Amino acid sequence: MQTDEGMLIRGLVRQALRGADSGRQAVNTAAVVKLADCLLERAIRYRASDLHLEPQVDNVKLRYRIDGLLRQEEELIPVQLAGFLISRLKVMAGMDIAQHQKPQDGHIEFSYEGRSIDIRTSSMPTIHGELMVCRFMNIDEGLLRIEELGFSPVNQRIFLELIHKPAGLVIVCAPVNNGKTTTLYAAMQELNQPEYNLVTLEDPVEHTLAGINQVQLNPRGGLDYVEGLKSLLRQDTDQILLGEIRSTETAEMAVRIALTGHLLLTTLHTEDSVAVIFRLREMGIPPYLIAATLTGVVAQRLVRRCCPHCQEEYEVPAGSSEAMLLGTAWQSGLKLKRNRGCGHCGSSGYSGRLALQEVLMITPAIKGAILQELDRQRFQQLAEREGMLTLWQDGIAKVLSGQTTLSELKRVI
Ligand SMILES: [Zn+2]
Repeated sequence: MQTDEGMLIRGLVRQALRGADSGRQAVNTAAVVKLADCLLERAIRYRASDLHLEPQVDNVKLRYRIDGLLRQEEELIPVQLAGFLISRLKVMAGMDIAQHQKPQDGHIEFSYEGRSIDIRTSSMPTIHGELMVCRFMNIDEGLLRIEELGFSPVNQRIFLELIHKPAGLVIVCAPVNNGKTTTLYAAMQELNQPEYNLVTLEDPVEHTLAGINQVQLNPRGGLDYVEGLKSLLRQDTDQILLGEIRSTETAEMAVRIALTGHLLLTTLHTEDSVAVIFRLREMGIPPYLIAATLTGVVAQRLVRRCCPHCQEEYEVPAGSSEAMLLGTAWQSGLKLKRNRGCGHCGSSGYSGRLALQEVLMITPAIKGAILQELDRQRFQQLAEREGMLTLWQDGIAKVLSGQTTLSELKRVI
């Protein structure tokens, strides 16, 4: 796409190659300095989490990670400029510019429109030269409130009910980078009242939460999840956020804590909500303890949100692949929204992300099924009969309301 920024970058590349500002350098170093700044500034404006400078045979490819996916820019950095540009970034990041053979890490404190942006850099030698990745640390939305998480009204009501119970185990499950921590932090902020003692056990602490006692675990120093949980039992705690259940021992401690009248919020790596019950069983937690402590599970995925500036309506014809995907949600004359792509969304059609959720509330019937050790398929059927909307169903509702697209749903679930 032809953009003003693209033109500026191409202009700086030409200026740099015209060269010899001092008579000794092969390139115009002032233009290289500007070019490096310009690439970083563009990443911030894109709300990118990463910028990649990837050396190829005769140029350097520029890619930005936006809303979880990499996007390649049209502009290429000519190979004659590559070494100078990488060196400039390495100088900014306090890395060794004489060392090209070993991977290195660095850090840039970049000032942009009065804000200080924390950028972690990392270089890696490849066969065509040094590959550089710049990660933008505090560029994401940061802390969100529960009503900003994208829960459907019914799921939000259940989630609020779950976290306001005085005791029990609430588990959020999702693959990595699907917003689990954001959801848990939103819950902790909701509970953050002077009459409660909230403690988090995290490895690492991802954001600082005012008014909450956050503990950074240090497994090598002897403070792991199990040790942390044991000491919390003596700390007069009300609600606990435990970063993750990683081992059987942690699972046992978590259950014990929930059993002794605490609310414990944590995460587990499973595909969907029902799988959590089976994972806890695999970890050796007896069904009667799962039934006694687990109060609810939230499975979550992030999808890209449609750009609001370039949506258009289209009709979904009968028998089309989209109609098949929609299943019973399809009806004659149904119109969906799609995106043409525009300057606001870098032609991608998407801007920002949205969470899909599947909330399993442990009702008396579900509790009975846990005790009876129902098989996976029958358990899933029961959960849906009890009112659980699957991730797919939640996604379809969000497609119908124009928040995301079917292709995005297919990509993620
Ligand atoms: Zn757009």
